Amino acid sequence: MQNKRIQALQAMLNTYSLTPNKALGQNFLVDADAIDRILDAAAVEGKGVLEIGAGAGALTEGLLARARAVAAVEIDAHMADILRDRFGDALLLYREDFLKTDLAALHQALGGEAIYVVGNLPYYVTTPICMRLLSCALPIGRMTLMVQQEAAARFFAQPCERVYGPMAVLSQAYYTPSRVLALSPESYYPRPDVYSEVVTLSRNARAYQANLAPLVKTCFAMRRKTIANNLKAYSGKQPVEKALAACKISPSARAEALAPEQFLSLSEQL
Ligand code: SAM
Repeated sequence: MQNKRIQALQAMLNTYSLTPNKALGQNFLVDADAIDRILDAAAVEGKGVLEIGAGAGALTEGLLARARAVAAVEIDAHMADILRDRFGDALLLYREDFLKTDLAALHQALGGEAIYVVGNLPYYVTTPICMRLLSCALPIGRMTLMVQQEAAARFFAQPCERVYGPMAVLSQAYYTPSRVLALSPESYYPRPDVYSEVVTLSRNARAYQANLAPLVKTCFAMRRKTIANNLKAYSGKQPVEKALAACKISPSARAEALAPEQFLSLSEQL
């Protein structure tokens, strides 16, 4: 089954005289069972969907069959040609770098309701893409993301763990992260050197706080510094001391020791 999918993909790429572009993280999904499980986990029925890095359309086809509307952002012009030829006007196609996409305009184009994000993310830019999604004001209902196993661990990390940082704080502040499935290199063409994992982040009821992401990034800017020192530049010594006292956080604490709820209280105070 997988071999057939690889052959079909190779034939498609040959038609366009293409080979997978390593620099753009092009490891295409060729595992039909994994595709079905990702689509089930994404729960996009009747929703407006943003797909990041649609490639040759392995997930796009199923998303279009299930969702109300699908917008795909794909940086590679050659892949965009394939997507246009395969799906025509049914797909809202943005041939650009997701890090530069006008998210407010894309949200309107999808109908202005809650957005469901899906992506087999290019490994070289996973953290900036996730941070953009976690920091933005878009009403995201759920994200279903395929990332390298080490990157997946960042969504679930707890205070004081080695990989605890802004991604853990923001994903746990606004979402409930769950593991969906682990994937071996055989699920892709070409095979990557690493294992991957699919995770969902389901939005909780907490209201978006515009200053939470900048605050969290500042707190983790210098991991060895105390939170009070890192925050001084953010809003001045006195307001910081007052806010820390109001939240019952020791000025000598480090960011890595604070739970997501403590960052939320701090952002309300500052
Ligand atoms: N979704 C397809 C699949 O599952 O087979 C392709 C996934 S592949 C891992 C990642 C895709 O993201 C590639 O098609 C690549 O060209 C695209 N990409 C890489 N960097 C990007 C960026 N900054 N913005 C949008 N797309 C990007």
